Amino acid sequence: MQAQTKTDDLASVVDELRRREAFVMVSHVKPDGDTLGAGLALGIALKQLGKRVAYFQQDPVPRNLRFLPDSEFVARALPTDLPPDTLFVFCDMSDPARAGEFLPPLQRENMLDIDHHLGNAHFGAYNLVIPEETSTGTVVVRILRALGIPIDARIATCILTTIMTDTGGFMHSNTTPQTLELSAELMRAGADKERITDEIFGNKRIAAIRLLGEVLAVMRFSSEGRYCYSYIDEPMLARTGADGEDSEDLVNVLLRVEGVHAAALFKAFDGEIRVSLRSDGSVNVQQAAAQLGGGGHFRASGLTHPGPLPEAFAAVEAALLQEGLATTASA
Ligand code: 5GP
Ligand code: MN
Repeated sequence: MQAQTKTDDLASVVDELRRREAFVMVSHVKPDGDTLGAGLALGIALKQLGKRVAYFQQDPVPRNLRFLPDSEFVARALPTDLPPDTLFVFCDMSDPARAGEFLPPLQRENMLDIDHHLGNAHFGAYNLVIPEETSTGTVVVRILRALGIPIDARIATCILTTIMTDTGGFMHSNTTPQTLELSAELMRAGADKERITDEIFGNKRIAAIRLLGEVLAVMRFSSEGRYCYSYIDEPMLARTGADGEDSEDLVNVLLRVEGVHAAALFKAFDGEIRVSLRSDGSVNVQQAAAQLGGGGHFRASGLTHPGPLPEAFAAVEAALLQEGLATTASA
């Protein structure tokens, strides 16, 4: 049994990466550019060291992430001939349950947890969790530097995708001078910023824009306009021809309304209610989500609610009030 490493013990994580021969990069359900880009970048680097690398993801690669190098190797099925000491590298998740239900049971000593979430459970024998980092991809950059692997154009595109995803295109407060300096370095290394911008922020399907219209048509406000929320149900998807992928960043539009400090989008389809929460920095939505069994970051979090929509509305609003929604001033 390996001793649990300190969360920021980069050297021991790097030793372990050098020691093992085979890896499975694991991304979370409803994958975004950070979980996938971080794993792909590290996988490309490990392959350059002669290692064997597979990619596990329960959900298919979203349409707008298929441009990522090596994303064609991402699968729900694992190779059958993996050695017993294969290291499973979980990227961008505070809890291994976020990987879904299709992984075989794993020994803790075969789990490496690379993340930047507050409240990460440190579930691996090895945990590199750095909440100050912009994205899980920028945590991976620390590993690449420690391994002495140069950042080529493919790795650079993956890492810049993680940064642009998690900063909302350099708009969120996790955009630091260091983030911009690293992004410049990645562009010089050949990262395809135009492609990333187009795939992540532009290039919306007509169905996605129609769905936005439906979401705006039913949005509601409470707490004297501090809280804006809306929902998506099956009939709305049927009317617009949209699917879950088309709903990905709609919650951010609700937060842009003047005077709104917290926003929520309730996604009531596929047999569950997924809730996306966003804050302008004056309400801790990570804590609000954690009250209801979810998690995330101070300004962006999510959860799954078991009950019908009206109950989910009430539970989330109560959790936000608990976090001080009624008394927030502008952040
Ligand atoms: P989104 O609203 O984009 O799905 O998620 C926003 C943030 O919250 C992401 O950082 C995501 O990883 C986290 N998150 C979303 N859903 C859950 C959940 O059910 N559990 C936990 N622990 N984190 C979540
Ligand atoms: Mn992330």
